[in-house]
Amino acid sequence: MGRAEASGRFPWLAAVDWEAVSSVFPVRLPRGYVGDAHTPGDPRLLTALPANAELEADVGDIPDPVGEQARSPLPWVVRKHEDRVLLLLTKRCHVYCRFCFRRDHQPGEGEDPSDVEWGAMLDYARASGAKEVILSGGDPLAVTDARLFAAIDGVRPEVPVIRVHTRAPITFPSRITAKLVEGLRARAPVWVFVHVNHPAELTAEVDAALARLVDAGVPVVNQSVLLRSVNDDAATLAALSHALVERRVFPYYLHHPDAVPGNAAFRVPLAEGRRIYASLRRMVSGLALPTYVMDPPDGSGKFAIPVDASG
Ligand code: SF4
Repeated sequence: MGRAEASGRFPWLAAVDWEAVSSVFPVRLPRGYVGDAHTPGDPRLLTALPANAELEADVGDIPDPVGEQARSPLPWVVRKHEDRVLLLLTKRCHVYCRFCFRRDHQPGEGEDPSDVEWGAMLDYARASGAKEVILSGGDPLAVTDARLFAAIDGVRPEVPVIRVHTRAPITFPSRITAKLVEGLRARAPVWVFVHVNHPAELTAEVDAALARLVDAGVPVVNQSVLLRSVNDDAATLAALSHALVERRVFPYYLHHPDAVPGNAAFRVPLAEGRRIYASLRRMVSGLALPTYVMDPPDGSGKFAIPVDASG
């Protein structure tokens, strides 16, 4: 939906300096994601609509919060672990989540790897000795099926396991077509990592998209981010975990939020995150309990945050 439609539908946007905010990080609002959300407190709107607070510097800002720049052996590639390689297929997304830690994106040239860069990143992955390639972005389902399948086929047979890290089943569920699902199924083992933060995101269309993947035998797991005012309470996280397990989606990780310039409004202090997680652990089964993780700025990779019974 365009700016005019969004401003009509969400009147409080009139106070937002849309141009200034979107010049820092683009704004994109698919009707299928925000179309039936109306109140300012709706978690989909809280995470998708621009806000003036994004323009304010914060003392906690970290420009490269998970240390990817130092771990990038060539453009569009991140290597933090011997057994995994991360390939960024594009910088484009169906929605630009305002909390995202990858905010170095401007529309136009440079949104996607050049042909030379694309070939080099696939060559690197094939020769890496890695057991898993993680296709990320941006959203790896913002590229065409042909390009996605070329990336998967381009690292096989050297790399056996492919992970597609995408919000498309949530933010643009019609992207999960029968053709896409069949292509992923035929290339097994391909795991799909989705990203749901709140039960309100699990609409009928999202449920159907997730079911198309699971019914085809494509394993689906979820990664959430702990976000201020969105899901920073154990009851919401427990409801989300229960809803995911019901849909045959494993609640894999709960990420502590990464502090990038522009997302200060979403941050939750670590001590508070620990208390919330300790409560969550008492409310759900082992199957429904995600691991609470942090990705530190030194680039050493994610680790599980220790949480004792009291938080
Ligand atoms: S879809 Fe993923 S990569 Fe894109 S803005 Fe949202 S969190 Fe960031």
